[in-house]
Amino acid sequence: MDEALRDLERKARAGDDPRDREALRAAYRRAGLLPDSTNVRLSSLNRRILADSIVADHDCDDQCCEIAAALENGFVEVAAYLLINAIEAEAVDELLEDGRIDIFGTNMMGERFAWPRDWDSWVEWHHENAISCPGCGAFNYPNRWHTPEVCGNCQKSLVEARLL
Ligand SMILES: [Zn+2]
Ligand SMILES: [Zn+2]
Repeated sequence: MDEALRDLERKARAGDDPRDREALRAAYRRAGLLPDSTNVRLSSLNRRILADSIVADHDCDDQCCEIAAALENGFVEVAAYLLINAIEAEAVDELLEDGRIDIFGTNMMGERFAWPRDWDSWVEWHHENAISCPGCGAFNYPNRWHTPEVCGNCQKSLVEARLL
């Protein structure tokens, strides 16, 4: 990162002049660090394109798979993020590289987060819904159609765990 950009960052952080933050955003954008659409939620068309690419790379209905759980429960950016960090994901990589779809959000300072936009709601969802297997500790995930009754990993009953 160059010195001029560092100076802008210092200024924007130190003061409360919104013009400094605007200038910083513009500089980030010029440096290619911030796509114009970063803070905008994905359009439904782009969500569908991203979801299709995730399925193309990882067509999975394993009840213990967090990628499948994220996708099926509407956390499409999280699903893409988990996927690209877990395995070779040709279709999703290509889609993210061309810059039209950005799964990361930014904070008020225009700084790009290193985690996807819908991460916090995913964590909340996970906390509420993931069923931890009393036998092996694996997470099992419900979806719209199905709530697992036995662990997908070790086959132990999950009924007790769900009552906890
Ligand atoms: Zn999977
Ligand atoms: Zn288990």
